[in-house]
Amino acid sequence: MFEKEIDFIRDIYQTKDFIPLHEPRFIGNEKKYLNECIDSTFVSSVGEFVDRFEEDISKFTNAKYTVATMNGTSALHISLLISGVESGYEVITQPLSFVATCNAISYCMAKPIFVDVDKDTMGMSPLALEGFLNENAIVKNQQCVNKFTGNIIKACIPMHTFGHPCRIDEIKDICDKYYISLIEDAAESIGSFYKDKHTGTYGQMGLISFNGNKIITGGGGGCIITDDEILAKKAKHLTTTAKVSHKWEYTHNMIGYNYRMPNLNAALLTSQLENLGTFLSSKRSVAMAYKEFFKDKPYGFVEEPTNGHSNYWLNAIILQDKEERDLFLYETNSKGVNTRPIWTLMNKLPMFKDAQCGNLTNAEWLEERVVNIPSSVIL
Ligand SMILES: *Cc1c(COP(=O)(O)O)cnc(C)c1O
Repeated sequence: MFEKEIDFIRDIYQTKDFIPLHEPRFIGNEKKYLNECIDSTFVSSVGEFVDRFEEDISKFTNAKYTVATMNGTSALHISLLISGVESGYEVITQPLSFVATCNAISYCMAKPIFVDVDKDTMGMSPLALEGFLNENAIVKNQQCVNKFTGNIIKACIPMHTFGHPCRIDEIKDICDKYYISLIEDAAESIGSFYKDKHTGTYGQMGLISFNGNKIITGGGGGCIITDDEILAKKAKHLTTTAKVSHKWEYTHNMIGYNYRMPNLNAALLTSQLENLGTFLSSKRSVAMAYKEFFKDKPYGFVEEPTNGHSNYWLNAIILQDKEERDLFLYETNSKGVNTRPIWTLMNKLPMFKDAQCGNLTNAEWLEERVVNIPSSVIL
């Protein structure tokens, strides 16, 4: 039934072999920088590639400060801690996301609350957020209190799904009104802009992931971006075992984490970032080819939303129903074209099944229909 689709994807990638969903490309100075790194013996958590990478990310995103971490999840964890999220607090997020977002909330002994996404962005819906808060929250002494649990709603984490920016300016206004810290999960969205501002720079803090399946990778890696010097300093301190800076004394003034990005990963990433522009334009042309091909189909291709400039990290189509989706997944995967359904909603996972939820109509609709198709950069 989907022979034409499979042929088209094979045409794009010009191969009869297995086509993965997303694989990294190393076309630049990766080996050179890795060798430099090894020759210098600074392969671990100190080294000039880490500093250089942080500066490069700040320049690219136009964020004042960047703190590199060992992965996106640790960046999320630290952002939440710095926002003051602790045991018994609540954090609003979207049910349609990778599990890392909720895991990080749990590491802080806090609880997630799920509000719906918009159908077009697949990211948090400002309407759903405002509706939930209107009904369930009151502001007392500049804190947002959940009327039902009595707990403080401390932070909100929207996510830019597959690199498509959500309505982050509206979400920011709502969070400000309710005294909720905004942390942007921009794990998937390096190179994506909302109204000409890089994703991750609307919130007090944003985080990006450089895991092996993301647009650029350090093998592993992540970072926190922020314009707030105090938050940046706290992030750096917490990710480096809270060591007090001194020429020789070895002292720590709180419980910290060993979350710093190793120099080896930063060396790889410094090179990857040099090619991000090339990767982004290749991704856009792959997406445009898909858009053209899928425009005559009864189901739809996910395009970048209004006001958003997407990095098109993972291309996605929306099948007409679950039955058609399952058939598509079966046929493509059995013919060596790797496709994948969108995540199971977080509120359906055993760890989060008791979480408080708003109306999740859009998330449930998308969960049954959205499938990612091969999206690697073509050289
Ligand atoms: C990849 C990803 C993360 C986590 O990043 P890691 O570097 O794998 O820890 C977090 N949130 C989202 C939405 C992601 O896609």
